[in-house]
Amino acid sequence: MRLKLFIISIFIVSLIVALFYGEIIISKALFFKAILLYWLFSTLYSNLTIVVKKGKVNMDYGISYGLSFGLLAGPLGLFIFEFVQRFIVYFNRKYSNTADFDEFLHTFYNIGAFTLNNSIAFFLFQALYPSFQAIPFGFWLLVILLVIVVSLLSDLYLITIFSFTGDITSKKEAWDFLRSRSMLDMGKTAFSNGLLVLLLMEQQWEMVIALFILNYLVSRSFMVKSQTIQHKLERDQFEQMAYTDFLTGVHNRTYMDKIMQELNKSGECIGVLVSDIDTFKRINDTYNHAVGDHVIQHYATTLQSNLQGSDCLIRSGGEEFTIFLRHRSYQQCVELLEKIRLDVECSPVQTEYKSDQLAINYTASFGLYYYKTGAETEIKRAYVYADDLLLQSKETGKNRVTAKNGTATLPLSARFK
Ligand code: GH3
Ligand code: MG
Ligand code: MG
Repeated sequence: MRLKLFIISIFIVSLIVALFYGEIIISKALFFKAILLYWLFSTLYSNLTIVVKKGKVNMDYGISYGLSFGLLAGPLGLFIFEFVQRFIVYFNRKYSNTADFDEFLHTFYNIGAFTLNNSIAFFLFQALYPSFQAIPFGFWLLVILLVIVVSLLSDLYLITIFSFTGDITSKKEAWDFLRSRSMLDMGKTAFSNGLLVLLLMEQQWEMVIALFILNYLVSRSFMVKSQTIQHKLERDQFEQMAYTDFLTGVHNRTYMDKIMQELNKSGECIGVLVSDIDTFKRINDTYNHAVGDHVIQHYATTLQSNLQGSDCLIRSGGEEFTIFLRHRSYQQCVELLEKIRLDVECSPVQTEYKSDQLAINYTASFGLYYYKTGAETEIKRAYVYADDLLLQSKETGKNRVTAKNGTATLPLSARFK
């Protein structure tokens, strides 16, 4: 009820201002031509309007040309313009069944608020223009000022409305709403309306139409671009998800297939490393699956913390991880592996089991095959070699590194513990 009263009051005040002012300050011919053009382009623009839902209320964010119309035609002309335009939108939405439940009330609000605010801008312009005229860019500064005043006023009405509907309940929410207005949008409104006033005063119709079209095209291309960016972001997010292991956050097997294809032809020397936690089944059996998961996560973190950006860590099986070590010599790979092996052995997992704190020690075994990609050995084969080397580590007592240098003229293999 308070809401209806508030909206009807705004409408009535705007009507009184319009009737009280009582004249349309431009010629009838200019007035009707302008109404027709503004209506045409507002309609064209309406498919670029962004509708934002705030609680129960839908708000349209589009560019408003009301300021220039008000400055040109005065409060009565503006009222007629808003009345005609908003009711066309109203009937359009009713006809196409896209109208809100409260569309009729919204229409009154829009006519009232836009007429009232832009009439205030009109009176301010009349009063202040002589002083602003004296300073450089005075006209533009004044138009920017008017857009700020109009925006502030309509935000105040909206805050009042939202406090009635319960969508704004505190001063902080009101302040956040005020701050959410975009400065860029206000700048666009100011310069478009300023230019329209200047061009219409000189009846530069072709320029007016060109400006409308420019505005439309710029907004349209911006919209298409931002949609493309949005789609790309979503695609990237999906891709990221499809390549990520859920438990550890490192890459998964699908990613492994992709990166193997890429590395296969690169011609660089890489270390293909396969590693596996020793007697992991016992951890699962002694405690439970959740503790087992925790150990896998800890292992992934330990591995990752020893790698550099260009290396690639993949969870290739339950407690088996594959790493592609890049930009390193064979010797550097072997040294790094020995460090990782010790790191795993010496850092127990802190976890909880049956509400007791627990430190679990575990070890892992490693197989490394170092070779030059893009030559005779396919990367899939290199992976099988590395897996065989891991098996040797397991068979010879676990917690060890078995490595082979496929680039050496004489096959060299080494075992460390
Ligand atoms: P080895 O030293 O020879 O590697 O012995 P192991 O016990 O580690 O090897 P095995 O392959 O017999 O056991 C691996 C176990 O890992 C079997 C499976 O139940 C468990 N596992 C696989 N994926 C997960 C997982 O995501 N979470 C947990 N908690 N366990 C898993
Ligand atoms: Mg294992
Ligand atoms: Mg295993």
